[in-house]
Amino acid sequence: MSKFVVTCIAHGEKLPQEAIDQIAKEIVKSSPQEITINSTKKLSTRATDLFAEITGSIVQKDFKNKLASVIEGHDDVDVIVSADNEYRQAKELFVFDMDSTLIYQEVIELIAAYAGVEEQVHEITERAMNNELDFKESLRERVKLLKGLQIDTLYDEIKQKLEITKGVPELCKFLHDKGCKLAVLSGGFIQFASFIKDQLNLDFCKANLLEVDTEGKLTGKTLGATVDGQCKSETLLQLCAEFKVPVESSCMVGDGGNDLPAMGTAGFGIAWNAKPKVQKAAPCKLNTKSMTDILYILGYTDDEIHGRQ
Ligand SMILES: [Mg+2]
Repeated sequence: MSKFVVTCIAHGEKLPQEAIDQIAKEIVKSSPQEITINSTKKLSTRATDLFAEITGSIVQKDFKNKLASVIEGHDDVDVIVSADNEYRQAKELFVFDMDSTLIYQEVIELIAAYAGVEEQVHEITERAMNNELDFKESLRERVKLLKGLQIDTLYDEIKQKLEITKGVPELCKFLHDKGCKLAVLSGGFIQFASFIKDQLNLDFCKANLLEVDTEGKLTGKTLGATVDGQCKSETLLQLCAEFKVPVESSCMVGDGGNDLPAMGTAGFGIAWNAKPKVQKAAPCKLNTKSMTDILYILGYTDDEIHGRQ
């Protein structure tokens, strides 16, 4: 017998009881002989946990595959499968992607606007994030387009444009208060990743380094090893070792194809308003407006989130 939690999170303000009943029915119908739903727990007016049991010993990924039609069948509700064990809530390391995850923008596109190559860079970013291009190659191509840009005088201006995603400061504070370590691993650039790390009081950051010549202009190259999907995954494991936390208690949040390896390595992975291919391949998808909704995935109620208990 394996135990799972299916968390239903509405995109709108309310998750109606009929929607919960319908999803519960669909879950049981996917394997009537094997799956039972034992109980439910209301987390908020927008989120409810359904506690499911399935005969035999299966892992989260296989249970999620069984429920594929339920997960994909609801446009306005995210249906998230977690193993019902102690690691669900007891997260000790959260690793975030930066561009289009902790912040709304893609920094490389903001830089590209100054170089007059925004459209070309945007097109390559889109394909890379949808896993149609190798990330390393896509970064090389995009950085090459920025060659000659006088960057040294632009850092502060670009930093002012970065907009932190709704719910991120509250989520980070809540997790920190619980003793969880927080990191940003970015395929973008270190000047901006370390700025966001400071803004959010994170514990660690890693990103790429743009090469600048003696006149403060971009050379069109990066320096050192590229932070790609593989690097994010390896760094996540290093952080688990450094912070002395089990990998099972780690979680990766990102939107791009280059976040999938780390999502697979971590105890859990969340595709945040991600590209369609990434949503399908990730352990779960969350397409709501506020990142504090991640706390529902960990099983926290509104009262716990807002300190009323
Ligand atoms: Mg991203």
